[in-house]
Amino acid sequence: MKSPKNIRSIFFIFIIMAFPFFGFSQSVPEPEEVLGFKVGADYHLATYTQAIEYFKKLEENSSRIKLFDAGKTSMGQTMTYAAISSAENLANLERYKQIIKRLSLVKGLSDAEAKKLSQEGKTIVYIDGGLHASECAPAQHNIQLAYDLVTAKDQKTLRILDDVILVLVFANPDGMNLLAEWYHPNVGTPFEVSRMPWLYQKYAGHDNNRDSYIANLVETQNLTRLVNKEWYPVILYNHHQTAPFPARIWIPPSSEPTNPNVHPLIVRWQNLIGSAMGAAFDEEGKEGAISRLIFDTWYPGYVTQVVDSHNIMSILTETALYRYATPHFYTIRDFPKQYQDLTMSAFYPNPWKGGWWRIKDAVDYCLTASKAVLDVASKYRKELLFNKYRMGKDVINRFSKEPPYAWIIPENQRDPGTASLLLNRMILLGIDVYRSDEAFTCDGIKYPAGTYIIPMTQPFALFIKNVFEEQSYPDLRKYPDLWQGLVEPVKFEGAPFESYDMMGWTLPYQFGVKIYAANSPIVSGKRRMNEVKLQPGSIVGKPGYSYLMRHEDNTSFTATNRIHKQGGRVFWAKEPFSAGNSRFSEGTIIVPSASVKRSFMEKLAKGLDLKIMGISKDPKVKTFSIKPVRLGVYKSWIPSADEGWTRLILEKHEFPYSNIHDGDIRAGNLNANYDVIIMPDTYKPEVVINGYAKGTMPPKYVGGITLKGVRNLKLFAENGGTLIFMNAVCNLAVEHFGLPVRNVLKRVKKDEFICIGSILRMQFDTSHPLAYGMPKEAATIFENSCAFDVMPSFEAKRQPKSVSKYPEENPLMSGWIHGDRIISQKTTILDIPYGEGKIILLGFPVQYRAQPHGTFRLLFNSIFYAGVE
Ligand SMILES: [Zn+2]
Repeated sequence: MKSPKNIRSIFFIFIIMAFPFFGFSQSVPEPEEVLGFKVGADYHLATYTQAIEYFKKLEENSSRIKLFDAGKTSMGQTMTYAAISSAENLANLERYKQIIKRLSLVKGLSDAEAKKLSQEGKTIVYIDGGLHASECAPAQHNIQLAYDLVTAKDQKTLRILDDVILVLVFANPDGMNLLAEWYHPNVGTPFEVSRMPWLYQKYAGHDNNRDSYIANLVETQNLTRLVNKEWYPVILYNHHQTAPFPARIWIPPSSEPTNPNVHPLIVRWQNLIGSAMGAAFDEEGKEGAISRLIFDTWYPGYVTQVVDSHNIMSILTETALYRYATPHFYTIRDFPKQYQDLTMSAFYPNPWKGGWWRIKDAVDYCLTASKAVLDVASKYRKELLFNKYRMGKDVINRFSKEPPYAWIIPENQRDPGTASLLLNRMILLGIDVYRSDEAFTCDGIKYPAGTYIIPMTQPFALFIKNVFEEQSYPDLRKYPDLWQGLVEPVKFEGAPFESYDMMGWTLPYQFGVKIYAANSPIVSGKRRMNEVKLQPGSIVGKPGYSYLMRHEDNTSFTATNRIHKQGGRVFWAKEPFSAGNSRFSEGTIIVPSASVKRSFMEKLAKGLDLKIMGISKDPKVKTFSIKPVRLGVYKSWIPSADEGWTRLILEKHEFPYSNIHDGDIRAGNLNANYDVIIMPDTYKPEVVINGYAKGTMPPKYVGGITLKGVRNLKLFAENGGTLIFMNAVCNLAVEHFGLPVRNVLKRVKKDEFICIGSILRMQFDTSHPLAYGMPKEAATIFENSCAFDVMPSFEAKRQPKSVSKYPEENPLMSGWIHGDRIISQKTTILDIPYGEGKIILLGFPVQYRAQPHGTFRLLFNSIFYAGVE
């Protein structure tokens, strides 16, 4: 007979065994109890803060969820995310993470071992609740999804929890809060669905998803670390909300063209998962799931395409959105004509018939889609895990037999700091980077010890190939049959089937970094690097007279700003000169030793990895005196990602600045507060002038700079200020300032010229201060850019100076161009004297998405050049 004590023990054992099954579900609070409203309630958006408060309650009350920190956001919030699975799986998380890491990295595994690990392992699925905060349903759906999984008792969900570990992330916490804070006070006012007049991420806004292949934003860095260094997910699901109307959700398969640098299994699984999602919608009677149009996989800047080339199956969906949490009613008459007869088709078999669309509907569609992904992840667990290994192994095998065998990055770079940055970002993105211990020869070229090597025999090699090689955009007009009707109905006017984003992006071109593809295998002793530093900082020579810094180093600008902050003096050499036994080029940065402390300069060299030269005698060279300037960055209430990216790179290089709004420009007297004003890129100059129309926004945010503001900008330059116009907004200056300049691409037809997001060759006059530090020829981005003809001016001293131009022929380096003759030898950067001041036109995006590090200095030069007399 058992004692009461024993009976109690048995009871406890039973409870402990039952925990995993029930997951403490009885005491788990519903979202409403914490948020104060049901997820998806009309007019209600949970903030990130509320969502995490709720997640913490879930963690306190359930053994099916564990919370982790991914790092800080741009605005300083902690990025908290959840792992959700069965309690047993969460108790063994380290083991499952180890298994998936080994399968992903392939190294040291045989097929048999990989099979065994695939039997044992769990499918890691990463769902991010959306990067784009204005697409607000996915982040709300995260809350309901967590609750549903943590409290589920049905057999299907228990099976999923047993097979799958869900990593549930809020990809844009700052945006989620900003959006809710903007929307809620407007509910019930005429401005309920007005757009938010600022970006929904501190720097990037909508472009946060274009940052994924280079990780300039801390959010991207944090999430990249989760994906490539910690969880190695099998599937990554990135939610969006721009469904092609009237469809209610866009699901895979994708449109064309397909990026060639993915394993075919990725595409197969994406199609399968997309079909499984479609079936789930139809089973639940949710109409309007569409596939195959608009969203292609060509451009790899998105998180989805980045992970595809890391052998992670990405899933993109675009659920329908009205605005925020406000419901909207649609009738068939609102639909585009071709959708009004509700024709059934292979990729749209269950057309939506119209009716109300509420945020609850969008949340429910997201839930159906996420659960369909989790279901596939569970049903095909072993196959998916083994395929992950298989893809990595195939990639390694492929590049042990065919070129490129590796990428070679010489240590000797124009801007070693920028080259280091590129390689360090590749390491963050899961790429193995090596440094050779010995000299070696490849393709007949000798490389010294210390050369960097990225072998292609690594599982994520397709990613490095994707971002390092030149792109040749496929002209889909050539084979309309191959593209299954996607091409023929479109009227081309000489253009190819346009891609959704950039057509060419080659990162080493954008960074101005020299690389070589190895067409034969490399034999060399080498070490894997955790961090790359091509040039450790130091001071060489004797700085009896002055310190010299190279204009080629982007960090020289950071150094200049720090020197100015200390009260030190800075000059730029106007011409090449000799000092000691060395030759220095024009633009060399001269810092008189008397104006700075040696210890300060040493700290600067070390902290910024700068090689600073000391010289003991006055080299007697003509110089420009470089002074700190009062810098304003124009910020429209129609948010511009370009403005945000400009701020990001200014801050990274420590330029002091302040934002200047429409009202400030309308008020005038700009010289009182500013020496330089940057006008960031906007798609159309009219946007800057007109802003939001009356009645569409709260009055504070209505109207642009107006024509009065244009006059004030002119006065600002006439009185000695400098205006810097960036990319397409140059048209504002050309059209309104009476400049002797014409943009030959203005109103050009598509059959005459088209170039969308490609990389073009550019020639620079490096004797002009705006181009100091540039090579004679460099790669530049073309995206809605300008090409100028310059007319003779009445007065010689007012004649614009051309600083750069397109080459006579063959400008294309990567991507696609049609009609390149139109831009042959046309000017792209202009230095235009204007009254007492200057107007600088940067006719192409020198800081596009903070990516082309090789042309940042053109902006930095423009800022400092403003201050020279
Ligand atoms: Zn989106």
